[in-house]
This record gives sequence, structure tokens and C-alpha cells, in this order.
Amino acid sequence: MIKVDATNERFLKTIALQTDFAVVGGGLAGVSAAITAARHGLKVVLVQDRPVLGGNASSEVRLWALGATSHQGNNNRWAREGGFINELMIENTWRNKEGNPLLFDALLLEKVRLEENITLLLNTSVISMNKKDKNTIAGLRAYSTQDFILYDVSAPRFCDASGDGILGYLSGAAFRVGAEGAEEFGEPFAPDQDYGELLGHTIYFYSKDTGKPVDFVAPEFALKDITQIPRYDQITSKSHGCSLWWLEYGGRLNTIDDTEAIKWELWKVAYGVWNYLKNSGKFPEMVNHTLEWMGNIPGKRESRRFEGDYMISQSDVIEQKRHEDAVSFGGWAVDLHPSDGVYSEKSGCTQYHSKGVYQIPYRTMYSRNINNLFIAGRLISASHIAFGSTRVMMTTAHNAQAVGMAAAICHEQDLNPRDLLLEDKMSTLQTRLLRTGHFIPHHQISDCENLALKAELQVSSTRELDTLLPGSKKADLNAARALLFPAPQGELAEMSFVVNADNDCELEFQLRTSQVFGNFTPDTKLKSKCILITAGQNQQVTVQFDHQFDQAQYAFCCVMPCEGVSLALSDELISGLMTVSHIADPKVAKNAVQYAPEESGFDSFEFWIPERRPGGQLPAVSFNPPLQVYSKDQLISPYRRPFIESNTWVADKNDPEAKLILKWNKKQSISRITLSFDSDFDHAMESVQFGHFDRAMPFCIKSYRLLDFSGNILKEDANNHHDHILITLEKSIETDGLILELLESHGAAVAVNSINVYS
Ligand SMILES: Cc1cc2nc3c(=O)[nH]c(=O)nc-3n(C[C@H](O)[C@H](O)[C@H](O)COP(=O)(O)OP(=O)(O)OC[C@H]3O[C@@H](n4cnc5c(N)ncnc54)[C@H](O)[C@@H]3O)c2cc1C
Repeated sequence: MIKVDATNERFLKTIALQTDFAVVGGGLAGVSAAITAARHGLKVVLVQDRPVLGGNASSEVRLWALGATSHQGNNNRWAREGGFINELMIENTWRNKEGNPLLFDALLLEKVRLEENITLLLNTSVISMNKKDKNTIAGLRAYSTQDFILYDVSAPRFCDASGDGILGYLSGAAFRVGAEGAEEFGEPFAPDQDYGELLGHTIYFYSKDTGKPVDFVAPEFALKDITQIPRYDQITSKSHGCSLWWLEYGGRLNTIDDTEAIKWELWKVAYGVWNYLKNSGKFPEMVNHTLEWMGNIPGKRESRRFEGDYMISQSDVIEQKRHEDAVSFGGWAVDLHPSDGVYSEKSGCTQYHSKGVYQIPYRTMYSRNINNLFIAGRLISASHIAFGSTRVMMTTAHNAQAVGMAAAICHEQDLNPRDLLLEDKMSTLQTRLLRTGHFIPHHQISDCENLALKAELQVSSTRELDTLLPGSKKADLNAARALLFPAPQGELAEMSFVVNADNDCELEFQLRTSQVFGNFTPDTKLKSKCILITAGQNQQVTVQFDHQFDQAQYAFCCVMPCEGVSLALSDELISGLMTVSHIADPKVAKNAVQYAPEESGFDSFEFWIPERRPGGQLPAVSFNPPLQVYSKDQLISPYRRPFIESNTWVADKNDPEAKLILKWNKKQSISRITLSFDSDFDHAMESVQFGHFDRAMPFCIKSYRLLDFSGNILKEDANNHHDHILITLEKSIETDGLILELLESHGAAVAVNSINVYS
């Protein structure tokens, strides 16, 4: 028994923690920064004010994490982010392809718990900080609402990934709220007062069919008159979860100080919408439905944005500007919402996409006036317009990996974030990121420590891109369809398709490519050929474009719409090849063409997008002569995903024992190897609710063995589904070669993107 005497006053227990790197906010950005730093040797304290991790992606808010893939609905092909966030999404798809938000929580918690270097403080809110000098934070204070403990965390470097920027705010970092005027960064799209300067919050709900009638009595605070929502006719019996993103409110208020008031208004709206669905009599199909879950925490879109040494703005996104300090990329549309949100007469969002992904510079990821403060998540140094794109969570997580890695380098060399702009430090940061599977478009890997670059490479076979045989399915040409393929330098081979026609007609083929090298927007027509087809089934139609490519690049062979005509489809799946159609994805575009208003600063262009699996089959096609686009040289190419070239070696389909061999002319000391397989970077892998067809990506290697030249097995796995395999040997080995045996894929042709070896 404990007996305590009466006293005048008492104090909360205080625990002091000294760490290498303190991260505030356990959203996807904070978690990515913390894990990346921890995996590179830093002791990290991660402070999260709520019971689970994930922020807006957690089961408390339930948004699906997205990034540059934009639901696969714009022209950013193979654009899913890399590194830790990719590992997370692949594992979530494997364990939780149905998108249960609770399982996503559990996975995130597991990932953080597995990192011995991370001290995780859940239910712990940062409430104050102290400084060493005017521009340097010495420590932060956080309070655990569950343990009633005060934590004093001191560290040489901090990262604010808290969404609202609590640490940046308290420490005096320069920040902004609201929209810049058009003139500051030359942003023609800057909104006026009528549209509003700030995006609001949203609360979602989930419903469930119970199989028997369920009554609903609305709480007193629910919205009674649904017509107060001007767009209430958009509510359908299918409306729940992420499809209700437009139940938005608060853009005219202070989105930090007024959070509770905004939440009450959102509960009013959400319960009012549910009442309308249940009790208006317009949705008899909802009689058996119950309200399964209602958000208690509003999802926040926008509050503070902190100023770094550079503010990314509209032209960076749309002109896809290149930056020497590029460490990440984005690709979501510039997506603004009217500040009146759910009560606005206007469309719930205005989205303009760029023609491809854009680089995000490192200078946006630290405070310009607090020397030891990194910033991550939606609060990076971006104008309101650019923030409209950079705010999505796979992008914020990918950026935050750069922050975590930068923190590790700063720690090793006793530097401040800004110092990484000096001398060769930026290329160290970029190279170390790329080694983890991170992707920086147009930044080529040149890793002089990679012993694979000095090895003689041998492969058991190579797939020529020759013939994809027809299967049982066909695709009507009611919309234009294109084969997106890696075209080698030189004369383009003739291509033959298998065509079915109900009547005689003229079929138009177009050869297109992208104006901007590395984009996948087919905005440049190189050639057009019209071919007369007579009515009949399974006809071989050959098109010869007579075109010479002066360098290797992706090209589109477009077959234009033609009534009564269909193309035979193949059942084969090969890395780096895709079918796209000239259609719109209503989730991210209103039309199959982006019509940008004059003077808006955006481009008008066509969307050519894939169909998700199991759809989206390749056309049956023959190349004559076959294309040599999957050679072993692709294993050491400067990118590790389809980008400009396939960047993939593919084994011949008849190779019974596909393998690749690295051979050195003298023994090498090896302690670390990374393998990079194809996890289909085009797949958006939305984290929750969406649901996916595959658990594992068919292109990924399922079963493999890695051996040295003495026959020792260094690693084997019969049930792999990851694309980035890091093999750290307990003791370094001396060998003059490595053999990678590729026993099975998850269904597609056996392919490897790269193998990298380090001493
Ligand atoms: C309705 C809605 C729809 C959206 N749609 C999408 C979408 O489909 N896909 C997408 O990717 N993005 C979407 N977004 C945008 C995205 O969710 C936000 O931009 C997100 O905030 C970015 O992630 P983050 O890590 O910066 O912040 P958050 O996810 O908000 O994470 C910040 C974390 O910090 C914690 N925190 C805050 N203050 C403190 C403190 N004092 N101490 C400790 N911890 C603290 C919070 O609890 C939170 O967990 C949407 C946003 C909303 C609101």
C-alpha cells in the first residue's frame, strides 16, 4: 500500500530524454523521417499527440495516402514514391489489400516498434520548447495525457512534421497562412477572396449493411435542412469514407485556433448527411445500413506553411523546373478548394495537373531562420498554390525521407540542415537516398562505391520484345488506346496488331512521344498512318511508321477510336510496357482533356491513362525486328524504374533457370547488397478503403537465391513481395562473383531492375 501525506502542491513526473533527432508529429511524414534517420544510426524520439500513428492516414481520420500516381488518373506513369513509404505501401497491400484502416495503423506501429533506435511517445503532445540562442532550439517539452508525464527532449536537431507546425511556431520560425498574391511568385492561379485562401477540414463516416432494417434518430446537433448544402444532389447511397472529401468546412476560419468549432460544424454536416440518407425517403436501399464509424478528429488540409530557403511555387510544378538540390518529387494536381467548402455553390475542387512529375528541392525542407529545424509534411516551404499539390501524404512521406537522411548526414558531420547545400554534400544526400530505393526524377544515380559497376555482368538469357500472343480477350476501340513502350534509339520496328472489324473501315495509328523528355504525356505526334481494314476477325494489321529515334525514349503507338473495331489482347505481363487509353478518371479529372483557362499558367493536354488490374491488358503485338530494350545493361542504368528507358533486365520467357552473375577479376570484400525488383511503380497502392486486386505485384520476384562464387547462400526467399531487398551480411565476405538465381515471379516475366554491391 502507498500512503501519501497531505502537502501544499505536487508536480507532474518529468523525464528528460537526450537524443540525436527529435521528430514532432507521427503522420506519414514524421514516421518516414524518424524511420529513415533511425535506420541510418540516429537515436530518434518521435512525439505523437494521438494514440496511433499515421495522422490523416490513420484509422482516426481514414484518408487514403496518395502521391504522384494521382490514383493512376493523370499522365504520371510509374510514379509511385520510393524508399520507406514504398516499403510500407507494398507491405500494406500484401497484408491488407482490402484497405482496412485498423490494419494500416497496426502496420505503422509495427514498423516503428521494430526500430530499436526510435523512442516512440504516443498520446504525447508538444506544448513548449526552449532555445540555446535566438536561432537554435535546445529542447522541447511534451505532455503525455495517458501517463501524466512531462517529457523534456533535448537534441541537436529537430523536425516539425506536426501538420500545424507547433515546434516551428513556438520557436519563432517564419511562416505563412493563406494564399500569396499572384505577383509574389508569378502565380496566375492565385485565388481571389471570393474563392478563398485556405482549404478547410473534413470529417468522414463509414456505413455498413447489417442485413436487417436499422433505424436512425439524428442527434439534436445534426443539420436538419439538407438544402443548406448546395451540392446535396451529389450525395448518393454509395457516399461514405473518402468519397465524402467535399464535406469540408473552416476555410474562412482560423484552421488552428478554431479546430474545435470547425469539428462541431463538421459533425453537424456529417450526421445531417447520414440523416438525409436514412430518413429522407429518397434512399430506400439504405434501410439496412447503420452508421459504422464517424470521425472524431477532423482531417486537416491546411494551416501554416513555413519558409525555407526556397518556396516552391506554381511554375516549379507546371514547368517541372529542375533543381540541383532536388531530393524528392511530386505529381498530384494543384488541387484547390473553395474556402466555403461544403456550403459553396462552386465545384468542390479545382484541379490542374502538370504534364509529368516535378522535382522538390531540399531548400523547402528546413526553416530559413531556425538553424536546426527541419520541416516536413504539409507545412514545407511551398506557396499556397504549390502546396495544393505537395500536401498529399505519399509526397510528404517521400520528402520526409530526405529529411531523415539529411538529419543523419548532419549528425555524422556536425552540420546544420542548410550546410548540406555546400560542396559535395548534396550529392552525398542524393546518392544515399537513391540507395534506399528513393526516386528523384532526372537525377541519375552515379554511385562510385557500387562494386556492381566494376563487375562483368552475365545473364542467362534476355527477352527480346518480339511477340505478345493473343489471349481470349479483346478491347473495343470506342476510345483511343495506346501501347506505351520503350523505344530504342534508331529506326523503329514495324508493329503488327491483331484486329477484329465488324465492317470495312479506316484505322488510324499515331506514333507519339512527349515534348518533355521523361514525361508520359503523348503531346507530340511524330507520325500518323491510316490503314484500310476489311470486315473480319483476327486480322494481322501491320504499321510501319518509318521513324528514326535519335535517342532511346518511351513512345506511344496510339490506335485511334473506330466503331465496330477491337484489338486482341494478350495475357502476358512484361515490366516497362503498358496500355493506356484516352479517357478521364473522374476522381482526378473532369474530362479526358485538361482544358486549362488562358492565363491560368497551366497547360491543356490529353490524359492517357491505364485501366487497373485485372484490366489494362497489353494488346497482342509483334515487333519486327524485335526491340532490344531489356538487355543486361539496363541493370546498371541510371534509374531503377521505367523512366526514359525500361531500366529493367527481363529474362527470356523460355529460360528455365533465369539468373544473373556478377564477376570481378579479383576478389572483392562485400558486406552489403541491394536487389531491386519491379513492384509496378504505376500502381497507386492507396492505403485504405480503396481495395486492390493483387496482394503482390505480378512483376515482382517471388522466389530467389543469392550465392557467392563458393556456393554459399547469402540470402534466399521463397515468398518475397518487396522490390527493395537490403542484404546486410553479418560478416563481410571475400568473393570474385555473385549469382542471383530468379526462381519465380508473382506472374509476369522474370525481371530485375538492379543489383548493387558494397564493401
Ligand atoms: C479530407 C481530406 C482529404 C485529403 N485527401 C487526401 C488524399 O486522398 N490523399 C492524400 O495523400 N492526402 C490527402 N489529403 C492531404 C493530407 O492528408 C494532409 O496534407 C496531411 O496533413 C499531410 O500529412 P502530414 O504528415 O503533414 O500531417 P498529418 O497527417 O496531419 O500528421 C501530423 C501529425 O502530427 C500530430 N501532431 C499535431 N500536433 C502535435 C503536437 N503538438 N505534438 C505531437 N504531435 C502533434 C498529429 O496528431 C498528426 O498525427 C487530404 C486532407 C484532407 C483533410
